Amino acid sequence: MNRPLHGLEELPEGKTIGDVCPVFSNVVKELRVGKRSTCCTACRKPFNAIRKPRKEIRLYPLEAVVPVAFAYPVCGVCVAMYQRGGIERESVLAAVESFHYGNKASQ
Ligand SMILES: [Zn+2]
Repeated sequence: MNRPLHGLEELPEGKTIGDVCPVFSNVVKELRVGKRSTCCTACRKPFNAIRKPRKEIRLYPLEAVVPVAFAYPVCGVCVAMYQRGGIERESVLAAVESFHYGNKASQ
């Protein structure tokens, strides 16, 4: 049996976080707290003129009693890996989860 690389659960296709977690269902605006990361959350390489943040991966704690999300910027190379799916997608998600929990990069 294959052990999953991470403990994150992806939103089902076409669903929003509000569909699966009621605490998020009526959120229309957001307030950002803190500075955006200066490096890619997945590969940990610094952003610059060439390596720009291309997408955000958002983690929603399902046990939240108020709607809180963590937004992690990801570079183009990692977005492409994510979009190719399979083990590449899993490894990007595992790296983001590892960052979220404060672990050092393993790549
Ligand atoms: Zn990256």
